[in-house]
Amino acid sequence: MTRSFMPEVATEEALQDLQLEGLKWTVTHAYGGSDFYRKRFDEAGVKPDDIRSLRDIKRLPFTTAKDLQEGYPFPLRSVPFTDIVRIHASSGTTGKRKVLCYTQKDIDDWGDFFARCYEMAGLSQEDRVQIAVGYGVWTAGVGFQLGCEKFGAMAIPAGPGNIDMQCMFLVDFQSTVLCCTASMGLLMAEEVEKRNIKDKINLKKVIFGSERSSEAMRKRIKELLGVEHIFDIPGMTELYGPGTGLDCVYHEGIHYWADYYILEILDPETLEQVQDGDVGEMVVTTLRKEGSPLIRYRTRDLTRIIPKRCSCGSVLPMHDALLGRSDDMFIIRGVNIYPSQVDTMLSNIPEAGSEYQIILDRKEDGKDYMSLKVERNKGQDPSRDGELKRNIEDEIKKQILVSGSVSIVDYGDLPRSDRKSKRVFDNREKKQRG
Ligand code: ZN
Repeated sequence: MTRSFMPEVATEEALQDLQLEGLKWTVTHAYGGSDFYRKRFDEAGVKPDDIRSLRDIKRLPFTTAKDLQEGYPFPLRSVPFTDIVRIHASSGTTGKRKVLCYTQKDIDDWGDFFARCYEMAGLSQEDRVQIAVGYGVWTAGVGFQLGCEKFGAMAIPAGPGNIDMQCMFLVDFQSTVLCCTASMGLLMAEEVEKRNIKDKINLKKVIFGSERSSEAMRKRIKELLGVEHIFDIPGMTELYGPGTGLDCVYHEGIHYWADYYILEILDPETLEQVQDGDVGEMVVTTLRKEGSPLIRYRTRDLTRIIPKRCSCGSVLPMHDALLGRSDDMFIIRGVNIYPSQVDTMLSNIPEAGSEYQIILDRKEDGKDYMSLKVERNKGQDPSRDGELKRNIEDEIKKQILVSGSVSIVDYGDLPRSDRKSKRVFDNREKKQRG
């Protein structure tokens, strides 16, 4: 009988007790061990003893990516160097990397909750896990492997790329689980089809890290590889690394490990908590992390809480897939809008292409107006543009609750970029400055 990595608590009340205990410990630990945190707390006029209930988390100051960069090379460090057994750093290309310190207990905790990912995905010790993500100073590969070994399945540390080798491993080692990014998953699926080896491989499950994937893409990968499930694993270096949650076999949302961290969903403008189910910024506070604890760390990632119990019955709450970055948010007529909402809306209209631009103007009447340029999808009939325009305008009003006027442009008209395309053009401020 293998050990279970699921939380020891069975009820929401017990989970909250555990969170409060962890919050008190973290605040005391950080205040005592980190000059940075002590200074921040003193500035905010809050002491560890002030934390008496979970609601008191609101009294704590926020931490940001900027704090991590300013504290380079060992920001948020809250233990002596002699207790640190490892560091990881983000793979950022601009500015200083975010470096996080790990004690042996942090590594053990990470391994435990990553093992939980495999357990939640329904793996057993019979499984063979081909880990096709990067190994290095960033946290990806080593996290997948640590969790796999702790769980007791067989790890195949293949690393990314090298498609010939990956295909050979799938056939020769009979890997049952493939861990990779979504784009690599698609590449592998197409290779398996091209090489006609679908009946020679034994894949049952695919686990995606870090990258958003569309429903159409997932469907195609599932078909080509003949797998039963595709799972999403979120994670960031600041919060140990990948493995901080997983959607279970019911795929109703991403269960997150509320016994290791508190997740707040806040309005990125007001920093107040949003209604359960509304989109906001993920703000995380760790409950057991020793080396570099996080206290109200603003991730800038947007998601929403899924306000219900999952059909699997787990006490672990769920959040939605990541819906973009809060830096991309804009406000029009008092409504917070995220470009990802427009993405999602357009992806449900087959006649519309995926490329669009949002233009915001302030007119003479002093009111703000939103207009959108949307590409007609490839192969669609231009004579039906009027119908498409009305369809999109209706959907905007229904789903985003703001009116927008739409103009349809030819497929390929809007600029493409291999980086992130600029989609929002806000002309309102310029006008104000006159
Ligand atoms: Zn579930």
